Amino acid sequence: MTDMQYVAPSTLDEAVSAYAAANGDGRILAGGTDLLVQMRAGMVTPGLIVDIKNVAEMTSIEETSDGGFVVGAAVSGAVLEEHPKFGSVWPGVLEALNLIGSTHVQGRASAGGNLCNGSPAADSVPALIAAGAIATVQGPTGRREIAVEDVPTGPGSTSLAPGEILVSFTFPPRPPGSSDAYLRMIPRTEMDIAVVGVGVSLTLEDGVCTAARVGLGAVAPTVLLVEDAANALIGSKLDDAAIEAAAAACSAACNPIDDKRGTIAYRTKVAGVLLKRTADIAANRARGA
Ligand SMILES: Cc1cc2nc3c(=O)[nH]c(=O)nc-3n(C[C@H](O)[C@H](O)[C@H](O)COP(=O)(O)OP(=O)(O)OC[C@H]3O[C@@H](n4cnc5c(N)ncnc54)[C@H](O)[C@@H]3O)c2cc1C
Repeated sequence: MTDMQYVAPSTLDEAVSAYAAANGDGRILAGGTDLLVQMRAGMVTPGLIVDIKNVAEMTSIEETSDGGFVVGAAVSGAVLEEHPKFGSVWPGVLEALNLIGSTHVQGRASAGGNLCNGSPAADSVPALIAAGAIATVQGPTGRREIAVEDVPTGPGSTSLAPGEILVSFTFPPRPPGSSDAYLRMIPRTEMDIAVVGVGVSLTLEDGVCTAARVGLGAVAPTVLLVEDAANALIGSKLDDAAIEAAAAACSAACNPIDDKRGTIAYRTKVAGVLLKRTADIAANRARGA
C-alpha cells in the first residue's frame, strides 16, 4: 500500500494538473465534512488529496457588474452568511446551505462539496437549482459551464468528467420583486437527512408570478428541477388553484425510496405540502423585496 499524498495548491491550474495526474485516484477536499467521514469509514481511500481552499477563485464571493454573484465552490455556509448582500438577494440558497449539520459543520461545509458528493438529499442543491445557478467546472481539457440540475447523475455520482473540478457557482441578476426559499422535512428537529427538500425561486410583478423555478430533493435518485411546478405558478397570482397545481406537480415528480425516514406515500405527500409552504415564504419575501 502506498502512502496517501496531500497537496494544497494556490492556483486552479496547479489543482487541475495534480488532480488529473492522479488518474482517478485523487479526491478534492473542500470542507471535508463528507470526504473525511467517508475516509474514516473506509469507503474511499484516495492516493491523493487535493485541498482547494488555497485557490482564491474557489473561496471568493464576487458581485458581478450586472448584479449577479459568483460564489467559489469551496465557500462555506458560515462565510457566505457574512457577505453583506448575498443573503438578502438569495435568502433561500443561504438558508439551505446553513441547514447543513451543526454550527461546526457549517463552518466547513461548502455548496460545491454538497453538490459533488451526489446525495439526492443534499440540502443546498434544490435551492441552487431553483436559483438557476450555473456551475463552472475546469479540467484538463478546459473550462465549461453546466446548469446545476445537470450535475448529479445518481446517488454519489455526477456528470463531472475525470479530472474536472467544480470551480464556482454563478447566480443570475434578480429583477425587483424576486426572492427564494428552502424548506426540508426531517424526522428530527436538526442534524438529520432530508426526507423531502423543496427550493422555490420566483419573481412577482404587480402580484403576478412572472418567473419561477422549483428544485425538489430526496424523492428521486437525483435532486430534480420540476418544470411543471414552476409552470403552474408562472402567470398566476399564486392563487389556491395555482399552488395546488404546483404541489400536485411536485408529488407527481416523486420517485422516492421507502426507508426508515419515510415511506414512498409519505414522501410523495410531503413534497406537495412543502411546495405550498416554500412558495408562500418565497412570495412573502418577494413582496418585501
Ligand atoms: C454531522 C454532519 C451533518 C451533516 N448534515 C447535513 C445536512 O443536514 N444536509 C446535507 O445536505 N448534508 C449534510 N452533511 C453532509 C456534508 O456536510 C455536506 O454534504 C457538505 O456540503 C459537504 O461539503 P464539504 O465542503 O465538506 O465537502 P467535502 O467533504 O470536502 O467533499 C464532498 C465530496 O465532493 C467532492 N468535492 C468537493 N468539492 C469539490 C469540487 N470543488 N470539485 C469537485 N469535487 C469536489 C469531494 O472530493 C468529495 O467527494 C452532514 C455531514 C456531517 C458530518
